[in-house]
Amino acid sequence: MSEESLEQLLKYDREHIWHPYSSMNDPLTVYPVESADGVRLKLMDGRELIDGMSSWWAAIHGYNHPVLNRAIENQIKNMSHVMFGGLTHKPAVDLASLLVELTPDSLDKVFFCDSGSVSVEVAIKMAIQYWHAAGKPKKQKLLTIRSGYHGDTFAAMSVCDPVTGMHHLFKGVLTEHFFADAPRTGFHDAWDEDDIKGMEQILRDHNKEIAAVILEPVVQGAGGMRFYSPEYLKRARELSKKYNVLLIADEIATGFGRSGTLFACERAGISPDIMCIGKSLTGGYMSLAATLATGEISDTISSGKEGAFMHGPTFMGNPLACAVSLASVRLLISMPWKRRVAEIESKLKQGLAECAESPAVSDVRCLGAIGVLEMKEPVHMESLQQSLVKKGVWLRPFGKLIYTMPPYIIQDQDLDRITEAMCQIVKEQG
Ligand code: PMP
Repeated sequence: MSEESLEQLLKYDREHIWHPYSSMNDPLTVYPVESADGVRLKLMDGRELIDGMSSWWAAIHGYNHPVLNRAIENQIKNMSHVMFGGLTHKPAVDLASLLVELTPDSLDKVFFCDSGSVSVEVAIKMAIQYWHAAGKPKKQKLLTIRSGYHGDTFAAMSVCDPVTGMHHLFKGVLTEHFFADAPRTGFHDAWDEDDIKGMEQILRDHNKEIAAVILEPVVQGAGGMRFYSPEYLKRARELSKKYNVLLIADEIATGFGRSGTLFACERAGISPDIMCIGKSLTGGYMSLAATLATGEISDTISSGKEGAFMHGPTFMGNPLACAVSLASVRLLISMPWKRRVAEIESKLKQGLAECAESPAVSDVRCLGAIGVLEMKEPVHMESLQQSLVKKGVWLRPFGKLIYTMPPYIIQDQDLDRITEAMCQIVKEQG
């Protein structure tokens, strides 16, 4: 592409296209990508970047993967889409059966939907409809933990962190729910029983109004990249049973190996009543999510007055997305992903260790294929990103966080390039 037409493309983009969390009056720099292969993003100006983001947790196998490409090519010859109302197909059935096999034990009903946020909406709706059908229609509130993130639609936003989320902007529109303090006990810390007391207090006082506890198991992602003790999750499961509320695990970011186990719930050996998955479900090829539930939930909803679960998106169970998901999940479990994720974790720890010495850094933490530098002060995302691009690395820092979650297929030397770039950035900050 000539320099002139590239300039025109960028001009049109700047003037007409919204990007995530951006202003149309003062848009952030965007980098035009021509193609992506393996862990490389090829920009239209010819530069190549090592992808340290997996396109927001999703592209676990990297880009342009022959197995995933083939799954899509084969499926498209049959059908790319048919409605799911009154019809079904093999890609959806095969994928559902694989998900039921791999997810925690009692989850054996699958609701396919379009995106992570929608799967959270569906989970919340399921919980409320469950209690309605069970003759307890007053149980409509949710209990969650601070520093969480569950998506950008209204019900999802209402359970995001009330300070860093969008509560102030949509006050009066967002349903008000209950918030316990974020877990204080870190992933590797000795368990402190006091940590769960806030949650128990709310459950004790308000269980008659609460339909479900919703949380991200072990790793809180976009709300702060915090890793907390699996013991907290275990206690949350026990308490939700004790006080007769459901437990919704949002595994949209953590699912499919990212934090070191296939699902983060496994760290605590628990099985939630409802679980949301998305992002890497399709290997990052397209949007698909799912909400899984127990037979107890589906039986109760189905024998309620409505007799049906009241949700049904147009692109529900999209065959193309199901086919690529099936290929991606099969590919994942056929490879030594656990060993590779553990290796990535130790490489990240090694590579980022020196940053802990920097006066600008408040914490360095790594879990699974996630490496995080928490700075003392908020970073300037745009200038940091420019500097990283100059070093040939693609990251998207936010708030006080400079972090990476690379595709699992990344080679050690590319991982080194990412951690080196992160360390250099820290030096430039300090
Ligand atoms: N839950 C969690 C834990 C997430 O990380 C995200 C996405 N960052 C979502 C929900 C929302 O998913 P989506 O962006 O696909 O709507």
